[in-house]
Amino acid sequence: MSTATKILILALDSVNLESLQPHLDGGRMPNLKGLMNGGVSGVLHSTIPAHTAAAWTTLSTGKSPGVHGVMNFRRFDPRAQQTRLNTTEDVPHKTVWQILDESGLHVGVVGQPQSYPARELKHGFAVTGFETPSTEAEFTWPKELKKEVLSRVPDFNFKSERIRDPGTGKDWTQWDDFSAGMDSLQDELENSHALNKYLATSRPWDVLFLYYQQTDPLFHKAWRWCDPATRGEDAARAARVDQFFARLDEMLGEILSLPHASGALVFGCSDHGHGPVHELVRVNGLLADLGFLKRGGLLTQATAALKRVAGQRLQKGFGIAVDWKSTRAYMPFEAIAGFIYFNRIGREPHGVVNEDASTLAREIVEALGKQKSPHSGRPLFDALMPLADAYPRHGAFDFPDVFALPARGINFVRKLSFGPAVEIPDENYKGTHRPEGFFVLHGAGVNAGKTAQASIADIAPTVLAALGKPVPHDMTGSVLTEFFTSGLVLTSGAASSFQAQGGADVYSDAEKALVEQRLADLGYVD
Ligand SMILES: [Zn+2]
Repeated sequence: MSTATKILILALDSVNLESLQPHLDGGRMPNLKGLMNGGVSGVLHSTIPAHTAAAWTTLSTGKSPGVHGVMNFRRFDPRAQQTRLNTTEDVPHKTVWQILDESGLHVGVVGQPQSYPARELKHGFAVTGFETPSTEAEFTWPKELKKEVLSRVPDFNFKSERIRDPGTGKDWTQWDDFSAGMDSLQDELENSHALNKYLATSRPWDVLFLYYQQTDPLFHKAWRWCDPATRGEDAARAARVDQFFARLDEMLGEILSLPHASGALVFGCSDHGHGPVHELVRVNGLLADLGFLKRGGLLTQATAALKRVAGQRLQKGFGIAVDWKSTRAYMPFEAIAGFIYFNRIGREPHGVVNEDASTLAREIVEALGKQKSPHSGRPLFDALMPLADAYPRHGAFDFPDVFALPARGINFVRKLSFGPAVEIPDENYKGTHRPEGFFVLHGAGVNAGKTAQASIADIAPTVLAALGKPVPHDMTGSVLTEFFTSGLVLTSGAASSFQAQGGADVYSDAEKALVEQRLADLGYVD
């Protein structure tokens, strides 16, 4: 094919074919269906883990989380036993946006998660993602754009308190709370769209990324009424969800019909899919039952309780105390996948593991691999992977020793308890991520009506190749040549990595608190 001159990327967080099907079949998404019928569409495989922060960073760098180092909104320091928020300063790799900008193209990046603080673009513009503390922060590139955004799209903000979870004010089983929650998601969708539309029309662009996030909290909070298998149970809620998707499709139609988007090669993609939660699994509880982790005795529990009373909340800890001297492995955090670390001598503050890591990894993989649900009899894990299996190529980050990937319908919980490690949740209306996301590719030179599979790491190299640009040789994704009617001309470019800076000081304490609360509001924290 002749090379594309313009590329539009419509980023829809969390959608998959299952969640779109009722609306495509019901005639509520004619614009998306038109793209699918006239292009290539199918499953876009997410990253390990199938997590928003990891996957969008992979989309923007063309590299796996093993290489770029972002597995979650946070990263864990096993020496300090603390997590901190990831920022763009932690990622020592150029984004595809920077590479295109350096080649002289005009790039716009609106709302991409994990894009704060904004990186410099010589010709382009950016609005950072929902990990931005607030509109008080520098959330645009160039900086002057902030004032313009706030005056032209006055309702734009990063706030999320209106969709808080049960326990903090909202119970989506109650109609009033559901309805109010849907209203606020819809309002935020309108705000995102107003911003996207304004930026798509107010300045020139050759490559434009527009992000719609609200599908993800909708699925997290109300999957039962979105899932084709269960949405029929509640006609009123399903109708409200239908309205949401019909409006989303109208928005996509508005963007696609802009004169600015005329002739563009269009990518529609999500970062992962979604599915129901049937069981909660306390991975640390399983590690305790299997003898890899020891719960603290009565004295340590009492000390932990006193600390809690004294205001030192164990929110980031394990809920109940751990006897570190008898603990070989633990899961300090998770992001859909469980991240299991060894309690290593010389790294962890009370390390005990001095043995060959591959032996302990094998032991854990074997022991956890046998665990089955006492309720369904099915295995609890889809896969258990030592680091080298999860990331055959990986940088020098503090990665877990073993990745635990949940079986379908399972959500991991970090906190320990004295109760059973596998529980049925009180509510059964929530959703959780699945590794299969969605993509569509449409435009001149694209195979029409084809269904296919791809990986999210393939998007950046494919964007470069479609524009006739060299693809950095160290990207882990592949160019999707088979989706085009005639071959793309592939040229290999220089590596896109650079010296890391470390992003520990980006957020002030007050900003950290704002972002942590937002992640909780959006359903990203257990
Ligand atoms: Zn996501």
